[in-house]
Amino acid sequence: MDDCIFCKIIRGELPSKKVYEDDDAYAFHDIHPAAPVHLLLIPKLHIDSLAAADERHAGLLGKLMLLASKLAKQHGLESGFKTTIHTGRDGGQVVFHLHLHILGGGKIPTL
Ligand code: 5GP
Ligand code: ZN
Repeated sequence: MDDCIFCKIIRGELPSKKVYEDDDAYAFHDIHPAAPVHLLLIPKLHIDSLAAADERHAGLLGKLMLLASKLAKQHGLESGFKTTIHTGRDGGQVVFHLHLHILGGGKIPTL
């Protein structure tokens, strides 16, 4: 996806504060943190949103969930963290490349 900002971040065409990368996933600090720790975890495969995912992505989605937990631990969120996925305009999604928010470290916004 040429115009997708998260695809550009993965390709290194836009800067990011990377915290993790493997063949399938990439994680970085959110540019406007809503909590002391606020990471974004994305698949390298461009998927518009959770609503656009299907059975072919089951393994990838599972991997992202487990990675979220691993990254939270690595960032000291032993006492807990929040994972959020915004989906679609009514779900508050702004960037249309599927991503998980990982929030923790104290002041976590409530729903
Ligand atoms: P959502 O689509 O889930 O509502 O939110 C997108 C998130 O991406 C926001 O929390 C926003 O701060 C973050 N974001 C948007 N553009 C950039 C960017 O260029 N770099 C980084 N690191 N985060 C971004
Ligand atoms: Zn993308």
